[in-house]
Order: sequence, then structure tokens, then C-alpha cells
Amino acid sequence: MNPDDIFKNIISHSKEYGFIFQSSEIYDGLSAVYDYGQMGAELKKNLRDYWWKAMVQMHENIVGIDSAIFMHPTTWKASGHVDAFNDPLIDNKDSKKRYRADVLIEEHVAKIEGKIQKEVDKARERFGEAFNEATFRETNARVLENQAKADAILARFKDALEKNNLEEVRQIIIDCEIVCPVSGSKNWTEVRQFNLMFSTSMGAVTEDSNVIYLRPETAQGIFVNFLNVQKSGRMKVPFGIAQTGKAFRNEIVARQFIFRMREFEQMEMQFFVRPGTEMEWYNYWKATRMNWHNSLGFGQANYRFHDHIKLAHYANAACDIEFNFPFGFKELEGIHSRTDFDLKAHEKFSGKKLQYFDPELNQNYVPYVVETSVGLDRLFLAVLSKAYVEEKLEDGTTRVALNLPAFLAPIKVAVLPLVKKDGLPEKAREIINLLKYDNACTYDEKDTIGKRYRRQDAIGTPFCITIDHQTLEDNTVTIRHRDTMQQERVSIEQLPQIVEEKVSFKKALQGLMPG
Ligand code: ATP
Repeated sequence: MNPDDIFKNIISHSKEYGFIFQSSEIYDGLSAVYDYGQMGAELKKNLRDYWWKAMVQMHENIVGIDSAIFMHPTTWKASGHVDAFNDPLIDNKDSKKRYRADVLIEEHVAKIEGKIQKEVDKARERFGEAFNEATFRETNARVLENQAKADAILARFKDALEKNNLEEVRQIIIDCEIVCPVSGSKNWTEVRQFNLMFSTSMGAVTEDSNVIYLRPETAQGIFVNFLNVQKSGRMKVPFGIAQTGKAFRNEIVARQFIFRMREFEQMEMQFFVRPGTEMEWYNYWKATRMNWHNSLGFGQANYRFHDHIKLAHYANAACDIEFNFPFGFKELEGIHSRTDFDLKAHEKFSGKKLQYFDPELNQNYVPYVVETSVGLDRLFLAVLSKAYVEEKLEDGTTRVALNLPAFLAPIKVAVLPLVKKDGLPEKAREIINLLKYDNACTYDEKDTIGKRYRRQDAIGTPFCITIDHQTLEDNTVTIRHRDTMQQERVSIEQLPQIVEEKVSFKKALQGLMPG
């Protein structure tokens, strides 16, 4: 099946099984805003918990906070968001569709890189074992020509962005002969900057001074609390502050389901370090975060690093962890070395010192910061899109399953009485009562057992426990494993341990920590 169709199936599966609904659907929805249903909310919570435990609980020197969405408006002056949180937008005059100019150019370059990859793949097939990719890339005329083309466009684009030269950005689009995917025409407007922050007003509405913003990132809530946390928690550099929470961006082009939303959730951690040590920590966090993603078990080939071509004004190093989404490799998480830009800016705008006294150096300084920032909704989409499988079974039927890591599954155990009578439902309730304090459980007595298994496979439930007449005699049940569909007969008292073994966060977390 082609990736577009799989993506469509994933979207409809999400709705059918209560993972994701369009916001206010009965009013035809609100663009790029989504609600999480009963299954989605559980999966999202488990992802958030896994991140929180891995970052906060597993690190003695990282603490978590929960700051407000509304912040003093000067925050966003200091952070640079009021003046510079812009995306360059361009409209196609024929289709009236709006695009991000940078995305049009980056997609054009990605197409050229796709051509190079095709050449490489073809050659690999032709030469077999003897193929040396590096030499091929350095010597093949077509590859070299395309590589030079891609590099030249990127260099020109980087230069244009650095000089904030929007006319040049437009000219690149014209020179590359980029067409509107909808109308197919090259009839483009000027490129304009568009600020992504949502604003609203607090209190009386008439005065300008009452304009406040919905935070476009959670990071600033951490920066403004830097000293509060450092002092009250007696934190010593290096240390980190983490938080998860909603962020809002008035995205120009919002598509691809929950990949780009106008209201979304971030999980961010700012790590405060001694100036001069930031590159060491930047590399540490790159490796640590990649390791975390890999621990979900979807395969290393689905992740890669991408270095930023244009560093933000505050950064001295930045990269993304990209994930192989159904629509290609795209940013999942950002890792940024933000220098002392934010704390210094808040010092300047607030007039308050935001410094740390380092007892080892016997000196005050503004710490440098390395940030890790992952979108919870994007992570959700990444997990869902790789967990979703349509399998052909031996009997010719198709099974749709979510092969989620067991500890992330919304429901851990489904308890199913074979029939709705003879005391089996009562026995099933007993088992739920045994397991529900540690695990999300569900009860289902409707339809044939086969149909019930399939319903649980479709939401990723790792265990189905079936109660039959033998259970009443000898206290044994059948436990069915989602991945293998194997069933085994075990005694009820073994259940807590069998389930715990597979679904606890502990194993996953132990797998993360060296030693
Ligand atoms: P993009 O280039 O895709 O717009 P960004 O570089 O602006 O993303 P950051 O500001 O680095 O993103 O934000 C950190 C993380 O927050 C991103 O890696 C992504 O996972 C998530 N994120 C950012 N914008 C959105 C959005 N509109 N919808 C969902 N998640 C988002």
C-alpha cells in the first residue's frame, strides 16, 4: 500500500477507535485543532509520563515545573518573539493558496536530494557487493551536478534569510521554477513576514497595554523562573528544568493532521551549564534524546539528525531529530545550544539579575543553556504511524493492530467472559478488581470472542484475559498476547506478575540508563 493510503487509514483509524477527533467537529471542525479521545488521551498521557520519568525522575539534577500559559507581555519582547517570530509567507495568485516560502524551497531541495538517492540506489543494485557509496557520490557526474545544484540553492537561501531579504527569497522560488502544487502555476505574490503569536486581551479591552499572548513555546516559563527554582531547590550548575504544556502558534500552513497544529503540547527541558561547556552538553543531550526515541523500538533507521542551515540569532549550535513520518522525514524534536541569550535578555528587560554563583570558580555568571524540545503531538503521530499495521493472516483475513510498546498502550488488559451468564461476568469483575489498581483495564462481553480480540488489537491492548467455565472450577484463565496472538492457560494469581513484567515503565527506563 502506498504511504498516502496508509496515512489516510491511520487518520480514519484514529477517529474510529477514539484516539483523535477534529475539534468541534459538529460545527465542521476548526482548522489545525484536534481533540484527543478516550484512547488518545491515555496514549498521550503515557508518552508524557515516559518523557517526564526519563528526564526528571531519572536525573537527580533535573526538576520539573508547570508555569502559566499567560505571561507578562514583556517576556515576548525579551525573547524576540514580538519582533522576530515570523514565517515568510507567499500566496499563489491562481489557486489563492498560501505557503511558507521556506518550506517551498526546502521541499524543492529535498526533491533534488531524492533524485540523488535514486541514482545511488540504482547503482547499488547494479554493482551489488562491490558498491562503494562514498566513492560513487564523489565521482558520478549526475550526482555531482545535482548535489552542486542543491548546495547552491541552500547557500543562497541561507544568505537571503540571514539578510532578511524577502525579495531574494521570492527570486529563489522563481529561479527554481517552483510551481503551486494546486494550480501548477508560477504566479506568486511577494513574500511577507507573518507573526505566529496569538494575542488576546486581559481585563479592560481598549488599551494597548492589555494585549497579552498565548505562549508560542513553554521555554520562556522556565527562563523567567530560573532563579526561583535554582534558589528554592538549591540547584547546582549543571542542572535542568523541565516542563510539559500547551503552546500556540498561528501556523500559516496547517496540514498533515496533528503534525502541525495551532494548539499543541511541548515537552521541553532547559539545561543550565557553565559557559564554555555547552558543546559537551549539546552532544550529550543529542545522544541521550536519540537513545530515548530509539528505546520505543521502532528501529534506528526511522530517525536521523538534521543540522540547522540557519542558526537562530541566539543559538551557537542546533539540530533536529527527524522522524520518518508517512509523508517523509520531518522534524520531531529540536536540540539547541541557546547560549546565554534568553537569561541575558530577561536581565535587560526586567532589570533583575539572573545569575548563578559558582562556588568552584568563586564567580558569578549567566549560565549557558542547552535545550531539548519535543512536540508531544508529533511524537504521538510518530508512534501511531509506526505502530499501525495491517496484517494478512494465514486464514486470509486482515488484522489491524497497533503494535505499541506495551507500557504505552492506552489499555493494558481486557477481561472477557466467554459468555454473559453462569457467573462468568462476576468472575471477570473479580479479575478487574485484582488488576485495576496498577493497570488500565477494560471489560467487554459483547460479540464473539474473535471480534473482541480484534477490537483490542486495534487499540493496542497487549493482553486479553478470557474467563470460561473451567475458570470457575480451577481458577485458571486464558491469556492472549497481542503480538503473537498466542494463548496460554495460567492461574489467576500469576496474572499481576505476567502483566507487570511487560507493561511497567521500569524496564523501559532501566534500558535507558547505562549501568
Ligand atoms: P517547524 O520547523 O516544524 O515549524 P520549529 O522548528 O518551529 O518546527 P520548535 O520551535 O523547535 O519547532 O519547537 C520544538 C518542537 O515543538 C518541534 O520539534 C515540534 O515537535 C513541536 N512543534 C512546533 N510547532 C508545532 C506545531 N505547530 N504543531 C505541533 N508540534 C509543533
